[in-house]
Amino acid sequence: MSDSLFADASKRLERAMKYISISEDALEYLKYPKSSLIVSIPVRMDNGALRIFPGYRVRYDDTRGPGKGGVRYHPNVSLDEVTSLAFWMTFKCAVLDLPFGGAKGGVTVNPKELSKLELERLTRGYIEAIADFIGPDIDIPAPDVYTNPMVMGWMMDQYNIIKRSLNPAVVTGKPITLGGSVGRNTATGTGAYFTIETLMRKFDRQPHETTVAVQGFGNAGAVVAELLAKTGYKVVAVSDSKGGIYAKKGLDIPSIRHYKESNKGIQAIYCEDSVCNIVEHEIISNEELLALEVDLLIPAALENQITAANVKDIKAKYIFEVANGPISADADADLEARGIYVVPDILVNAGGVTVSYFEWVQNRSGLYWSVEEVNQRLQQKMIKETEKIWQLAEEFDIPMRTAAYVHGLNRLGEALSAKGTRDYYVNG
Ligand code: NAD
Repeated sequence: MSDSLFADASKRLERAMKYISISEDALEYLKYPKSSLIVSIPVRMDNGALRIFPGYRVRYDDTRGPGKGGVRYHPNVSLDEVTSLAFWMTFKCAVLDLPFGGAKGGVTVNPKELSKLELERLTRGYIEAIADFIGPDIDIPAPDVYTNPMVMGWMMDQYNIIKRSLNPAVVTGKPITLGGSVGRNTATGTGAYFTIETLMRKFDRQPHETTVAVQGFGNAGAVVAELLAKTGYKVVAVSDSKGGIYAKKGLDIPSIRHYKESNKGIQAIYCEDSVCNIVEHEIISNEELLALEVDLLIPAALENQITAANVKDIKAKYIFEVANGPISADADADLEARGIYVVPDILVNAGGVTVSYFEWVQNRSGLYWSVEEVNQRLQQKMIKETEKIWQLAEEFDIPMRTAAYVHGLNRLGEALSAKGTRDYYVNG
């Protein structure tokens, strides 16, 4: 794996360039983030001490519309990581044909060590620091790892205080009562489910004969696990940051999810319980989960989980990337050579930003949709773009990841060229 996550992310773009004719200018633009903001956020802790947390917001490209992307609270957040995530958002929005560019934000913090009040002060401080960099027509934050609707509600409220006006469309993933969309909280997992179902039908795979392992039983992973289990897939393993469980006969996913959710209360808004103490099972590590002999492997936690170091251990037939960047570029060739079919993050987890887009549309129109309407529109979009990428992969005989980049690049190239290319200026 390369030292820089962004350098690693860029390799996928280079590979896709071979299959598309795009202006040199457009490619040059896409090699660099448009703007990057680094801030220091002072937070008064409950014990009176002052702590300063580093925060970031990167707008990678906004040719197709305002920047769009989540905010991550995690101890490993860095400018390099946020830039890579903003780069992926640029392609994801293009792949789903959303009128947005790509952006991302983050704060280097372990939110589990903060009280709820400290977390609120940190969130308001972050918005204070980036308020001039975001806006409903500039850049619209959303939830990501360890941020949730409550955090988004604080963000909107702080932005409104600063601007002295009501701006629900400044962030998405808000609580429903503050202008959030129904279906947003489950959108990433639901969108991933539509993509998995569309492709499994092409491979003639029946749910009851398909085993699944999900790494990361959070917002995205738990929803996709439950939907697959309800359809008859045998979900045999799940994990969280503390470890995983495996049951050959399949796990009772709804009760694991219920357990996780019902035990949140005392530990502020973060679930401190591990899935390890619930059902009859074998306890496994996250490394062991990744190496299980299953049909579908769904990494839904963090980036760089499958790298050159452990790629030889992977035995799954299909990998659906629900997390962003769970496979490093140096593992691609090995997976491909062994016929392991990888469906990339910029398609699989795009349901979240798609319903974020629906939320932004509803906030701006003032007309709110039913959950059926949201899910139906989400289903249409996910299936349509999955089919298009599948066709590109078949036509050029390329992996789904490269096909997804080609698909996004086509749309981005068209938009960038519409602003004027070298040919236009030099050749008249
Ligand atoms: P989350 O915080 O709700 O859940 C993350 C889960 O991963 C938690 O259960 C945590 O315990 C677990 N985890 C953390 N480190 C782990 C490790 N080393 N091994 C195994 N599990 C670990 O976050 P989320 O919103 O579900 O996001 C998960 C991934 O999906 C991220 O890569 C995120 O960028 C991506 N994603 C999320 C959304 C969304 O709308 N939530 C949208 C697009 C992409």
